[in-house]
Amino acid sequence: MAKNIVILGGGTGGTMVANHLAKGLNHEIKNGEVKLTMITAEEDHIYQPGYLFIAFGLQNPEHYVKKQKALVHPNVNLVIADATLIDKDKKVIKTNKGDFTYDYLVIGTGAIPRFDLIPGLPEAGDDFYTMEGALKLREKITNFQGGKIVITLGQPHKCPVAPIELYLMLHEFFEKKGIREKVELVYTYPLEEVHQAVKVAKWLKPELEKRNIRYVTQFVPAKVDPEKKVLTSKDGKEESFDLLISIPPHRGAKVIFDSKLGNEMGFIPTNQYTLKSEVDPSIYVVGDATAIQISKAGSTAHYESEYVAKNIEQELHGQTPTHFYDGKVFCFIEAGLEEGTYINMDYKNPPNPVPPSAMIHWFKHAFNEMYWMTARGLL
Ligand SMILES: Cc1cc2nc3c(=O)[nH]c(=O)nc-3n(C[C@H](O)[C@H](O)[C@H](O)COP(=O)(O)OP(=O)(O)OC[C@H]3O[C@@H](n4cnc5c(N)ncnc54)[C@H](O)[C@@H]3O)c2cc1C
Repeated sequence: MAKNIVILGGGTGGTMVANHLAKGLNHEIKNGEVKLTMITAEEDHIYQPGYLFIAFGLQNPEHYVKKQKALVHPNVNLVIADATLIDKDKKVIKTNKGDFTYDYLVIGTGAIPRFDLIPGLPEAGDDFYTMEGALKLREKITNFQGGKIVITLGQPHKCPVAPIELYLMLHEFFEKKGIREKVELVYTYPLEEVHQAVKVAKWLKPELEKRNIRYVTQFVPAKVDPEKKVLTSKDGKEESFDLLISIPPHRGAKVIFDSKLGNEMGFIPTNQYTLKSEVDPSIYVVGDATAIQISKAGSTAHYESEYVAKNIEQELHGQTPTHFYDGKVFCFIEAGLEEGTYINMDYKNPPNPVPPSAMIHWFKHAFNEMYWMTARGLL
């Protein structure tokens, strides 16, 4: 009987694991010893970092969307379906297109921005964390003639540097438009400093100050009054706004809650080195779906995917997994419209941004184009 490997979730992490396994187990798949299946909800695969560029009108939506079918190796049996339950005892995934059994399961169901967790936010807030939100924000930013823009953040959220990028870009966008002095930019952050990483906060503070961007720390969003256009924090601080941009707290996918595989936030307890789940030995987890204390980022999912694939290959060959993820994450950060910096980190070394340059900005754009090769497991 063929061994069934199922990958649930065709985002960055799931797609990369599938493509690594498709190549690494080519022989076993071809001679029928292994069957590799990916179950994912959407036919389209969206490169989410592209939302930032869509919001500024710098790129069209189509540029960041490809058919999932075009990204996965022919060795992968692709199923477009919504998983409703993972029964770890029976090793079955229930979907709207039937049940799928597995010997090994890789969960890559991501992290979901939960606008609904903050009363008033769905009505009053804008965002750049969904395609719909990015397109709507593009119109609002383009037509903005002056007033107060506030950003509010919930924890945890994917891409911890995205709010920095948005704000440094907004500053320059309005400068270019010639209306910067008519726009008040307010950056609120839920923690004590302006960023969760100490050295990023140290770098960011003077960058905000020299651009006249006001920051308010320890601002945990609690509610929004859509009529009065006021955002209130948990401890009662208030900020009025003309445009409110939010990155709400993220939670795990519904199927993880329904299957009782996650913690109170719906993220799955996972060994940070082997990436095997702590809830069941035949389940690995990749990307934003893990409860590992690490940036929820495409880069994290990218590096993790190689370790997950190698460890599963070893297990299939009767060996103990020996590939230990070191926590490597690498993220470019736009520091305006024409300069960028980057951070590089692992479990032992915290991030420390390098001085921004035009060259790093172009590297970020180059990576955006190369993403499709990375997703295919070619880079
Ligand atoms: C605006 C923005 C900017 C970003 N910028 C960067 C950046 O510069 N650098 C960086 O490294 N990261 C960045 N990120 C973060 C990055 O996009 C995510 O961290 C990454 O996509 C996580 O990959 P993942 O595979 O864990 O989850 P995802 O890519 O979100 O994929 C999850 C998949 O699971 C599927 N799924 C969920 N539930 C089910 C179900 N029940 N049944 C079937 N399928 C299901 C979904 O359809 C989806 O395909 C950014 C994100 C945003 C929103």
